[in-house]
Amino acid sequence: MTVKTRFAPSPTGFLHVGGARTALYSWLYAKHMGGEFVLRIEDTDIERSTQEAIDAILEGMEWLGLEWNEGPYYQTKRFDRYNEVVDQLLAQDKAYKCYAPKALLDEIREEQMAAGDKPRYDANHPKVVAANTEATESSPFCIRFRNPKEGTVVFDDKIRGHIEIANSELDDLIIRRTDGSPTYNFCVVIDDWDMGITQVVRGEDHINNTPRQINIYEAIGAPVPEFAHCSMILGDDGAKLSKRHGAVSVMQYRDEGYLPQALLNYLIRLGWSHGDQEIFSMDEMIKLFSLESISKSASAFNTDKLLWLNNHYIKTAEPEYVAEYLQWHLDAKSIDTSNGPSIIEVIKLVGERCNTLIELAEQSRYFYQDFEEFEAGAAKKHLRPVAKEALELALSKAESLQDWTTENLHQLIADTCSDLELGMGKVGMPLRVAVTGQGQSPSVDAVMALLGKDKVVTRIAKALNFISAREANA
Ligand code: GLU
Repeated sequence: MTVKTRFAPSPTGFLHVGGARTALYSWLYAKHMGGEFVLRIEDTDIERSTQEAIDAILEGMEWLGLEWNEGPYYQTKRFDRYNEVVDQLLAQDKAYKCYAPKALLDEIREEQMAAGDKPRYDANHPKVVAANTEATESSPFCIRFRNPKEGTVVFDDKIRGHIEIANSELDDLIIRRTDGSPTYNFCVVIDDWDMGITQVVRGEDHINNTPRQINIYEAIGAPVPEFAHCSMILGDDGAKLSKRHGAVSVMQYRDEGYLPQALLNYLIRLGWSHGDQEIFSMDEMIKLFSLESISKSASAFNTDKLLWLNNHYIKTAEPEYVAEYLQWHLDAKSIDTSNGPSIIEVIKLVGERCNTLIELAEQSRYFYQDFEEFEAGAAKKHLRPVAKEALELALSKAESLQDWTTENLHQLIADTCSDLELGMGKVGMPLRVAVTGQGQSPSVDAVMALLGKDKVVTRIAKALNFISAREANA
């Protein structure tokens, strides 16, 4: 049988890291098995579902590169189908109309609690029986699934192992509300059946729903899929991950300068392992992933590790890949790269020093934009009258340099040092501040090579003016 998995978010908010990890695991399992992956939007809760959240989920999935083979399906477009199955279950007496009004059920619940019993719906409660017998054609009703009274529901969760629950613990679930809308536990089963889902990977908050859903699968004669319930993600303080811990929306990680590859690598390790390996290419993730190796215990989020991975991918990923995501940040900072070197070359030179794409965009700026001012501390220290001679000599050598390469610029700096009998720092640092505006940059010969002759010549001249002005004011 072809493996088919799905991710089925409720569009009540953005795609958060917990959802993204579930989506990743589900997607990876399908890929690993050569199967298919379905995206389904569970929007039956009309009050809480929004188009904005749907868009945010799709945007997050796309940004992460978790492509789906089918969908997105929308539950709100499938009401006819759900009703068809409800009618079938009614005809087979596997479901029934329940006329007991909510107020009455609340009252019974109170009584049960006061008596120290577990509150639950009881179809045989005299008040419920009475409500049902007194009801007329026009009385409002909901539809309940007739849960088996005897026996146990058993399943082997791929993560949590053998799970068993007695049917006596489960009450007759509402499958269609009084207003005619179908409920989550019912829709999910019909969808997973119709869509041919073979493995359901989802959060552990759904584990209590699973036995109820298995009974529905059996009642409609559908094959029961396998289940894998993933544990929670905690913040680094041990509390359930929430907004309080900073970024939880996947798109916020984009905004903060992470590469999707880094986030995916981070997420796969958040509750899954393969020995002590930390770095996984997409191909390795797909090849090595298994549901059985997902951890049962909760995992704690660690931003430092995510940063470390991000730096790793900025350094080692194909520069073309980094460029694709860096461009978004350059645009956000209005850095126009058309009048400077290729951003691929800038990434190769500057990338390894940066933990985020925001830093990388900032460190790319001086290749494309002239700066108004030199960084104050660096200028104070390195653009001093003593540096004038070195800068003047370097400028004249630069003006006459024909072949503008890193090697030749390296030689130019070395010659300036030996001509003036100065150490490397006395020439290199003033030059660095002159051409980049700041005290730190990659190797200054390589930076000058990429900047090009025009920018270098203009900027050294500007630094010399700066020194003269400083002298005049002294
Ligand atoms: N819509 C549910 C949620 O967002 C997931 C249901 C499922 O995966 O079965 O929590």
